[in-house]
Amino acid sequence: MSIAEFLLTDINVRFQIASILFVVLMLMNFLMYEKLPLLSTKFFAIALFGVFLELIFDITTVYTLTNIDKVAPWQNRLAHQLFIAGMDALIFSLFFYIKILADGQKRPSLLQKLICVAPLFISLLVIIFGDLSYVVNEKGIYSYGSVATTIYISAAIYLIASIIITFGHNELEQNSRWSIRCAMVVCILITLFQFNNKYVLSSGLSFGLMFLLIFMSFENPKEHRDQETKCFNKRAYHLLLSEYFSAKKPFYVLDIVVNNMQNINNKYGHDIGHKVLTQIAMECKPLANNLVFHSRGNTLTLLLRLPEEEKIADKIANLTTILEREWNVDGNGVATDLSINVLDVLNSVSSKDEVYDITLYVAGKHVASKDKDKHVEVCYIDEQQFKANQRFLTIYNILQTAIANDGINIVYQPIYSTKRQKFISAEALVRLKDTQTIGFIPPDEFITVAEEKGLINDLGDMIFENICRFAYENNLVERGVEYIEVNISALQGMDTSLPDKLKNLVEKYNLTTNFFNLEITETAAIESMEMLAGNMSKLKSYGFWFSMDDFGTGYSNLAKLFDENYELIKFDKSLIWPYFEAEPERNKVLLPGAINLIKDLGGKIVAEGVETKEMVDMLTEHGVDYLQGYYFSKPIGESDYLEFLKSH
Ligand code: C2E
Ligand code: CA
Ligand code: CA
Repeated sequence: MSIAEFLLTDINVRFQIASILFVVLMLMNFLMYEKLPLLSTKFFAIALFGVFLELIFDITTVYTLTNIDKVAPWQNRLAHQLFIAGMDALIFSLFFYIKILADGQKRPSLLQKLICVAPLFISLLVIIFGDLSYVVNEKGIYSYGSVATTIYISAAIYLIASIIITFGHNELEQNSRWSIRCAMVVCILITLFQFNNKYVLSSGLSFGLMFLLIFMSFENPKEHRDQETKCFNKRAYHLLLSEYFSAKKPFYVLDIVVNNMQNINNKYGHDIGHKVLTQIAMECKPLANNLVFHSRGNTLTLLLRLPEEEKIADKIANLTTILEREWNVDGNGVATDLSINVLDVLNSVSSKDEVYDITLYVAGKHVASKDKDKHVEVCYIDEQQFKANQRFLTIYNILQTAIANDGINIVYQPIYSTKRQKFISAEALVRLKDTQTIGFIPPDEFITVAEEKGLINDLGDMIFENICRFAYENNLVERGVEYIEVNISALQGMDTSLPDKLKNLVEKYNLTTNFFNLEITETAAIESMEMLAGNMSKLKSYGFWFSMDDFGTGYSNLAKLFDENYELIKFDKSLIWPYFEAEPERNKVLLPGAINLIKDLGGKIVAEGVETKEMVDMLTEHGVDYLQGYYFSKPIGESDYLEFLKSH
């Protein structure tokens, strides 16, 4: 019988031939895609190729057995030894692959390596020196003896060890754990079946199925790809970061952040946004060994290992030159405002989590460049930023505790009416009770943290309820307080449930909505003006009214002055103070000009930061309606404020 005839007709090799086709398809798929340079990927590639070889060995043994009278006994024995040793090695490498994945690409110690290879080593000895006999009859063929039996023992050890790994505390994701368990159970079932049905040669099928399962859950190249930008995705980024950490060689993380992504998306749509990212990624690829990751919505990350002679500064200079341009997407010229944040990993951090933390922090702290012609800004992440991030995280912790344990105080700063010559209101300002951990934290600082960490709505609710309770318990209305000014953070103002929440609290404490004037600063943080405007008109319909806070600090522009939502305009101290400084002369023009402008538009003005008699006189003379500042009082605690009301 010729080999071709054998392959086509022999019933004993049909599983193996089907599996070979199957494995070849997987191999082709695997080789077609760009892969991450991970230790586990290397192991997987070896194992996948090993399966292919193994199936060939398998067919060879069937051939030598069915032609036992034509081949020399040693040839037959060798074919079987190769087949069984190969299968042993395969099961071992699969186990090792799973171990590397579970350990986050960490290299095992020498002792670990020795323990891992011991069963394989013993079994190889048995395969070399053990006995082997064959059965060939009309029912079929198989081999037996210690050489054949040893594979069942070592397979059992490695398969069970693989399953045990999935129950441990490690880096495997939940669905990965399940696919390993499934793959191993499939394998064990087939092995048991094989053990009891010696004539059916099913080990080839067994391996094919197992590899398919593992392939689909770990090594499927699509799992590591971002569909929109065709870069590697976040998951791939985490994996390669693990690998680079484990390899203990120096490397850099470069975040390329598109700071104006939100604007691009708003203006042109998300599709164009993704295309811009894709184009940027294309430019970066040649500089980064094709290792470009879409790590966050507006961020691409490069992981760079540099050869000795190459300097990071040169690399970044290159990158800056390449990225300093406009992007042409579907006929639109899109300008980007990019930051390149550079982290020297081995010299500054010791864990992956620290990398995520610090890069996220730095990306969020970007301030727009003054220079309109410069589109790329480079930032080397340094000691100072680590400290700032540390502080940021500490404040985040304090805030969480404060929100859970009523850890805030409200202080009140009286507001003086120049027309009626008395104190008719106050601004409520929040303070943290915790002054032990890192001392006093200015409210603007922790408000920003609350905004960035998604705590602002909870904090805002707490502040508002605190004020309501105080006003109700002490009957502020009867003490002559006409209204309280409450700061609403820009992000809080975007929360569509805000109007009803505030209304409910006001009703709960038997107060009226017009007792509350809401101060809003329209910052760059506001993503959608419509959402804020919608919220404001709803609040207005409930009876709340508004102040435009921090007028004169940059975000409030003239157009907004015509916005009839605002009844009061609060002049920031930076608009007031320069008038009272000697130089330069033009300082004398701005403040009176601004006051007249607002008055002409029919708006009422609150001046903040009033510290001296001179300020009081000038502002009163020019017709400013309300004054607030240290000249009258600093922000004071509840009981002091009640005292203040009594004595004034
Ligand atoms: P803001 O709304 O502009 O508040 C006025 C700030 O000016 C207060 O600082 C107040 O203590 C300070 N101030 C008042 N008079 C004078 C003065 O004569 N001289 C000087 N140098 N400063 C004066 P504070 O309490 O530190 O608050 C800072 C910022 O934190 C506030 O600025 C506001 O943006 C934010 N903030 C404070 N409390 C809250 C709150 O309850 N909710 C929200 N969302 N933000 C708040
Ligand atoms: Ca304010
Ligand atoms: Ca203000």
